[in-house]
Amino acid sequence: MIAALFAGGLALAAPPEVVELGRGYTHLYALVGEGVVIVDTGYPGDDVAVLKGLADAGIPEDKVTAIVITHAHSDHTGGAAALAARLQVPVLMGAGDVPDAAAGVNAEAAPTSARAAFMSRFFPETYGAFAATALSAPLSLAEYGVEAMVTPVGGHTEGSLLVTAGTTLLVGDLIRGGVVRRAAPRLHYYQLDTAAAHAAVAAALSPEITAVLPAHGGPLSPDAVRRFLGG
Ligand SMILES: [Zn+2]
Repeated sequence: MIAALFAGGLALAAPPEVVELGRGYTHLYALVGEGVVIVDTGYPGDDVAVLKGLADAGIPEDKVTAIVITHAHSDHTGGAAALAARLQVPVLMGAGDVPDAAAGVNAEAAPTSARAAFMSRFFPETYGAFAATALSAPLSLAEYGVEAMVTPVGGHTEGSLLVTAGTTLLVGDLIRGGVVRRAAPRLHYYQLDTAAAHAAVAAALSPEITAVLPAHGGPLSPDAVRRFLGG
């Protein structure tokens, strides 16, 4: 991998490789550059799956520099406390969800259908509590050795965030992929503010983006997402 390109004395680091860790209900990713940033940690107990995913990808644990959590729901936060303790790295979250993580409880989830309201009883209500660094403005992950941007946007939850890694856009639960037709964008089961969630994805979907990765289903093509958001 080319770590950096030097042009006129200015170091232009390459965007990270996006590696999927494991194959559960929630997609878990590692952004691999000079450092490694983990994006989402699955259900409680999925810290094991994350560590196995790192090992399977040949990524040494001591290369991990930070953990980003897209929002405080237990299918994303579940492994964070255990991983932060083991890897001794900070956890970054949107400011609005940090109090929920500190209490080990889910951020408010507003169902978008009767089916979603029924499904919510199957999600763990608690997870290992952890202290997170609160983001209230976009942050470059360059200080963690990864050329990517984290942007808190709200929408799905108060503190939901998305991640731009080169030409890849990781949208967490702001939208999802289909259950059967995984490449088809869908309204997520829970949205605190659907219009805000969708506007945030639209704003982040710059012409350079070639792949949109939701935390469930996908991957999605940018054009399919544009059609979904516009329709
Ligand atoms: Zn989720």
